Amino acid sequence: MDLLRYVDRDMEPTSREFYRRLGEERAIFGLRCRHCGKLNLPPRRHCACGSQSQQWERRTGGGRVHAFTTQAGAFRFAEPQVIGLIDLDGGGRLFGVLNAAVGELAIGIPVTLDLVEVEGTVLLGFRPLSEGD
Ligand SMILES: [Zn+2]
Repeated sequence: MDLLRYVDRDMEPTSREFYRRLGEERAIFGLRCRHCGKLNLPPRRHCACGSQSQQWERRTGGGRVHAFTTQAGAFRFAEPQVIGLIDLDGGGRLFGVLNAAVGELAIGIPVTLDLVEVEGTVLLGFRPLSEGD
């Protein structure tokens, strides 16, 4: 299946570095602006203040469900089909797979990083936090 090749292709350098760190360090990294202190996550090459001086900063991977939905098997995700937006602890909002049944999810519940690997490509994923976490 070549459906995921686009992840590695034509990606701008900041996004490429984000996914490299995600895959190799199994962690979410944002960019912290050295000028104004803002955390840019998703990372962006230029901070909103105009500065390009930023440094990578590891995040906990924890957050809360902002929104979620389901989709039929499609271009980006063969499975699972539950996806959503996560408000990360300490700032930032990312889109990813939710490794849970829809019935387990609710707006605002805590989640933790749970990466999805499809044919060697690591994608953002989260699962609901359980008692043992
Ligand atoms: Zn800034």
